[in-house]
Amino acid sequence: MPILRLAIPSPLRNEFDYLPPEGWSDAQAAALQPGIRVRAPFGRREVTGYLLAVLPDSPLASTRLKAAIEILDQKPLIKPAMVQLCQWAASYYQHPPGEVLPAAFSHPLRKGKAHKALGNAAWRLTTRGKGLPAGALSRSPRQALALEILQQQDAVPASHFSNEGVSSAVLRSLREKGLIQADTLAPAGMAATHREPLTLNPDQARVVASLKESSGGFSTQLLEGVTGSGKTEVYLHLIAHCLKKNQQVLILIPEIGLTPQTLGRFEQRFDANIVVLHSGLTEQTRYKAWEAGRDGSAHIILGTRSAIFAPVDRLGMIIVDEEHDSSYKQQDGFRYSARDIAVKRGQLENCMVLLGSATPSLESIYNAKEKRYQHHLLPSRAGGSELPSIQAIDIRKQSLQAGLGAALIDSVEQTLTAGHQVLLFLNRRGYAPTLQCHDCGWIAECRGCDARLTVHRRQGKLRCHHCGASQALPRQCPTCHSSALMTAGLGTEQTEEFLRSKFSPWPVYRVDSDSMAKKDAMHDLVSELMKGEPCILLGTQMLTKGHHFPTVSLVAIIDVDSALFSNDFRGEERMAQLLTQVGGRAGRASTPGKVILQTHYPDHPALQAILQKPYAEHAREILVGREAMGMPPAGKLLMLRTDAADVDTGEQFLQSLRTQAQPRLPPGTSLIGPLPSPMQRRAGKFRSQLMVTADSPKAAQAVARLLVSIAETLPVRRGMKWSIDVDPIDVF
Ligand code: ADP
Ligand code: ZN
Ligand code: ZN
Repeated sequence: MPILRLAIPSPLRNEFDYLPPEGWSDAQAAALQPGIRVRAPFGRREVTGYLLAVLPDSPLASTRLKAAIEILDQKPLIKPAMVQLCQWAASYYQHPPGEVLPAAFSHPLRKGKAHKALGNAAWRLTTRGKGLPAGALSRSPRQALALEILQQQDAVPASHFSNEGVSSAVLRSLREKGLIQADTLAPAGMAATHREPLTLNPDQARVVASLKESSGGFSTQLLEGVTGSGKTEVYLHLIAHCLKKNQQVLILIPEIGLTPQTLGRFEQRFDANIVVLHSGLTEQTRYKAWEAGRDGSAHIILGTRSAIFAPVDRLGMIIVDEEHDSSYKQQDGFRYSARDIAVKRGQLENCMVLLGSATPSLESIYNAKEKRYQHHLLPSRAGGSELPSIQAIDIRKQSLQAGLGAALIDSVEQTLTAGHQVLLFLNRRGYAPTLQCHDCGWIAECRGCDARLTVHRRQGKLRCHHCGASQALPRQCPTCHSSALMTAGLGTEQTEEFLRSKFSPWPVYRVDSDSMAKKDAMHDLVSELMKGEPCILLGTQMLTKGHHFPTVSLVAIIDVDSALFSNDFRGEERMAQLLTQVGGRAGRASTPGKVILQTHYPDHPALQAILQKPYAEHAREILVGREAMGMPPAGKLLMLRTDAADVDTGEQFLQSLRTQAQPRLPPGTSLIGPLPSPMQRRAGKFRSQLMVTADSPKAAQAVARLLVSIAETLPVRRGMKWSIDVDPIDVF
């Protein structure tokens, strides 16, 4: 009897065998294809599982197997390549397959709902309806209106009638009279067209020609182009190339906030069905976008990280924009890198993968150097504007106002007076990072984390930026009852206040996850800025992600020192990317740009490197250091983490893991730890970690399998959780 091997949503890293549902013949069961959804009993629950394979028999006796309850799909909704991609990801990231496969399905389908095709129902006139004399239905104005609409078009979408105020009852009575009949509309085929593109400059033309040449099958291409070099224009040309071949294109961008701007550029260029996939949409909208990718009616699918798992009918190319961005790595649960999965997907679906960035990750630079990726360079800005000049300002002994020294205040003033826009970068939300009692020294700390609470004055709250805890801003010190509470340090809210009073009446816009929480906030802001009126933009990290602010001519980093002293081995890379990206917002149009970095450490080598070298050169120097240390991307890392209710449990678990693994470690691998995590206590849990290094991807995979197989046999105390992170991005 054939056996169904299923991926079942559960934390167990196993595949599960079932008998076919009652009433299914062996031949019927044997013909089932991987990817179909199957309802099955699991423990005391009924779950939606995913068929991975039909096997002739199971290692378990068939008397011990349960029967599946129901086959939910006639045919798989996703292609074999997507099933393979999920299985590969489950194995690479050591994550339960039953928690990976759902990523390829839209939410209602994960819950076992029946698959619904897009609303392509339509109505058309019957021969009798066509022959109806004019005025025949004049006694029923609604029916007459419906008829009039149908006389103008061959088949009319059902949705069109409700928009026109024609109810389904009206349509039903017309059908009963034999005047109209139901129909379906075909999904859009090759409808996409594009408007006149810009004339490519010679660099772009060279890159586009070379990419077109490679676009017939799988390859990975790294497009390294300085900020404003016209990478997006290169994407647009290649997308047009794919659309002409009737292929669909999947594009990943790092942030929801970027979608309106990117979408706008695509919509201007293409007369095409462009759908958007990200977590900020309603379930209904997301389902429609997912289905349009799957059934082939969407030409362009634009999405954030999780869209890498969206099924696409005729995938022609995957673009990962701002490929260095850390938001492509999921940091909890299924810890995958959408960029790396994109490359695997391109291989399985035989299409080109294009990674673009002004500041590529060292991973991608390394892969290009090792000839796994092809490398393309756009060395200068497209519109003829110059890259901005960078200057460090020593603020030692200077008096500061809300973090700004006199020289910077002057520059801001001059820029505004000259009619240009200013962008100030401060990577700290809230009013101040510390609340302190002046009389006894008490400091407001989070109850659950090893961290201070941030003062959010406008909301009247103290908030923890690590666990989200929040409480009212106290008026008195809880230990000595003094009311002499003071804030220390600087956040965007405070600097905003200062800028408003200092530079009134010029407008000040604060851009952080607090002020941009509303759905259209970023879109509205960008439209406002496009008018080009002088103003000040003050923001966090959020400002650095690819946004295009054409008339910003001065960019200043208020506190560059906070980026200088990172403990993470990626610290220097991250800082170089951040500063290059922030600086890159300057001088994109005709006005030449200037970047100012305020620092107490003007001679710091990492800062000097940024002042003296372009990112491309600096990054390759950092890479030499990484290779010498055997750190990623030259070597591989894995992290095993625990969190537990007390200090010892997690560390003991990792210690037993280490003891058992040590004698069986694959060659080229070693273990470091267990150690407390950098922030040991977070959201009330104590965290520990065991780091694993490996000198090759193969060794890394072998040691990952070994550690997981041991960890699964170790006793786990109640309240403790462990996880594995393959290619972690936050390490120290
Ligand atoms: P990137 O994505 O590399 O940051 P963009 O594609 O956003 O760069 O281009 C930066 C600016 O240069 C945009 O205003 C764009 O319209 C303009 N641009 C790009 N390519 C050309 C070109 N070939 N000719 C004229 N302007 C161009
Ligand atoms: Zn006190
Ligand atoms: Zn906290």
